[in-house]
Amino acid sequence: MTIFARIIAGEIPCHRVYEDAHVLAFLDIGPVSDGHLLVVPKETKAQLHELSDESAAAIGRVLPRLARAVMQATGATAYNILQNNGAAAHQAVMHVHFHIIPKLGSAGLGVGWNPGTLDAARARELVASMQAAL
Ligand code: AMP
Repeated sequence: MTIFARIIAGEIPCHRVYEDAHVLAFLDIGPVSDGHLLVVPKETKAQLHELSDESAAAIGRVLPRLARAVMQATGATAYNILQNNGAAAHQAVMHVHFHIIPKLGSAGLGVGWNPGTLDAARARELVASMQAAL
């Protein structure tokens, strides 16, 4: 059982900001910036692609509202939504969660971004195989 499943079950306390039938949002215990919020589906799944449509929709419905609340509480006008899947992608807790991380001066998420160029042939291949997978 992950720490987030235990929080959802009420076995471990959290600083709860929001809860409904499908979603729980609470403050991150190791905030990257002030107001760093975690938004978690109650469904027990490790990674985003495993989530039911119902959980996914429930998260999508409240994320913008929660982002507005984070902005209002912190005064931030910029923020990042971060959602890690897999240890190689920096996921530490293996229960789906979205981070809402306000950008407050130099505090907030640092992003390493190394853009390449999109090859046209590869783009056609990718579009075909992604569309076949949908
Ligand atoms: P990730 O690397 O995306 O898996 O992030 C996991 C996040 O969970 C980190 O930002 C941790 O600070 C946070 N975290 C771990 N345990 C707790 C807890 N008990 N309450 C709140 N946040 C937690």
